[in-house]
Amino acid sequence: MHKRLWNSLKLTFTLRPVSPILIKSGGISLNPALPDMQFVRTFTANGESVFIPGSSLKGVFRSFSEKVLRTADPQFACEPFPNLESYCGRKLERVDAKSENNTKENVAAQIYRQSCRACKIYGNTRLRGRLSFTDMYPNGPTKTETRYGVAISRLSHAVAVGPFDMEVLVAGQFQGALVLENFEVWHLGLLALTLQAINDGIVKIGFGKNRGLGQVAMQVQQATFALAKKTGIPQSELWGVGMFLDDQNRREYGVSASDKLMNVPQPTQVHDVAVLLQRTYQAQQWSEIEKASIASLNQLLEGKA
Ligand SMILES: [Zn+2]
Repeated sequence: MHKRLWNSLKLTFTLRPVSPILIKSGGISLNPALPDMQFVRTFTANGESVFIPGSSLKGVFRSFSEKVLRTADPQFACEPFPNLESYCGRKLERVDAKSENNTKENVAAQIYRQSCRACKIYGNTRLRGRLSFTDMYPNGPTKTETRYGVAISRLSHAVAVGPFDMEVLVAGQFQGALVLENFEVWHLGLLALTLQAINDGIVKIGFGKNRGLGQVAMQVQQATFALAKKTGIPQSELWGVGMFLDDQNRREYGVSASDKLMNVPQPTQVHDVAVLLQRTYQAQQWSEIEKASIASLNQLLEGKA
């Protein structure tokens, strides 16, 4: 399965701060005129600019997805700490091609099948993740401000750290994209659920989430699905990898034979791209796909699928 591209989703979106946000730069500023905690910056064609690294968003998506999965069943998401015996990457260390007449392909299948649901999307040390985010750059002007903070010790009620100043982003719009490859339909459901939780203010990004920082709005602009060409895919259906594999492969990878979304809206564009069929959906249609995929995830998590 991993050597071939069966399906993919690319979502383009904008992101803007609702409350102030702070994605901390890693370095320590030696310039006393600059805040102690600075917003991360990079060089672009237009000079130095604040930006939002894709990795900071991915981390937020993973940890929320893990929470949702564990709530349904603690076995659905491991704790991704290398020292824990239950971490999939550690558990799967011993699965290799040298033992039990394993081939490379069926080692890959075993690793996928035996990884928890969170690792199936986000990966572990034995499995490459399927979801990636681009870095997000501003679409126009941005505005940052300096805020002052202290950390109060819960024991002594005295100032434990600080005062320190931090540079927060208060205005601006960022442009980004995410790509999900070789997905099962329930992956879409988790993605959609996390997007909703972000827009509801339940999930925040960056530093100071308990200080009222980190609330953002993410607006999907366009969704582009690519599906491997296979006769008989109706335009009203979106297929997960389970639909593309044969019975033996399905068993090996542990994917479902009814891995599809039905009654999806008509795409605005269909392109033939060599071995792939590319379908483009606008924001309105995407929100219908979101609803359908969340409903399908619900069924799965309640054990009805
Ligand atoms: Zn895992």
